[in-house]
Amino acid sequence: MVDWIEGRISGKRHWSQALYSLQIDAPLTDFQAGQYIKVALDVDGERVGRPYSLVNAPQEQPLEIYFNEVPEGPLTPKLSDLEIGDRIWISAKASGVFTMDNVVSRRDLWMLATGTALGVFLSILKTAEPWERFERIILVHGARNTGELAYGETIAELQAKHEGAFTFISALTRDSSETALQGRITNLLENGVLEDAAGAKITTNDSHLMLCGNSEMIKDVRAWLEAHGLHRHKRTEPGHYTTEQYH
Ligand SMILES: Cc1cc2nc3c(=O)[nH]c(=O)nc-3n(C[C@H](O)[C@H](O)[C@H](O)COP(=O)(O)OP(=O)(O)OC[C@H]3O[C@@H](n4cnc5c(N)ncnc54)[C@H](O)[C@@H]3O)c2cc1C
Repeated sequence: MVDWIEGRISGKRHWSQALYSLQIDAPLTDFQAGQYIKVALDVDGERVGRPYSLVNAPQEQPLEIYFNEVPEGPLTPKLSDLEIGDRIWISAKASGVFTMDNVVSRRDLWMLATGTALGVFLSILKTAEPWERFERIILVHGARNTGELAYGETIAELQAKHEGAFTFISALTRDSSETALQGRITNLLENGVLEDAAGAKITTNDSHLMLCGNSEMIKDVRAWLEAHGLHRHKRTEPGHYTTEQYH
């Protein structure tokens, strides 16, 4: 049973197409960067809740979620209709283990995101811990087109703050841009383009990877990693990668 608390929409951003961010004022107890909350609305007398990663860092208010509207989805078309001041329900506690607690310190931390999974990495990158534990952090955002490359200001702030330690790479599947790679993250791993763009090799000694987003990317990247001797991290058996699947 989820223990729900009431929140109010305090900010809304429509990035492009079906992509939105909502800011929520709500008294959530402490959380760890990388965790998610459940967000719900009452639809036809029934509470419909779904998990969303927090984009804000634990030290920041308000809470923020980043999502795309799934036209046939029960919740997201209602979420994207919300306006400032509207009521929303959130779980009283955040959950999830996709945090720095389950990341092994090595030289490079790779963060691979598809679509709205970018948000969870921004929360983590706004905390001090990853920068203290890794020499380099490489954030890779896979999207369909340039319109889906959201949070440019936040990424630019991270680049300015962590010059030399931070590399941001975007990869587009249905569009081209001078500043983005072209293709799916998996293909760019297989043909070596991603490692070349990062100027780093993914190896058992030097790398930990965090994968977040759609099941296809996670499945394909996992297969590539396993074929290269990198294994899923377990608390009982330190490995090389951790995953969080959105759909
Ligand atoms: C731990 C966790 C964290 C999550 N965090 C986020 C987040 O930060 N941002 C976010 O956008 N989503 C996130 N999701 C997915 C989210 O919970 C919902 O499933 C999604 O927003 C769609 O909700 P819905 O009720 O409209 O449709 P649902 O009934 O949940 O899904 C309808 C259909 O859409 C597919 N689907 C679900 N999510 C997407 C998507 N993003 N793009 C395309 N198809 C999708 C589902 O597989 C299903 O086939 C997360 C999921 C999990 C398990």
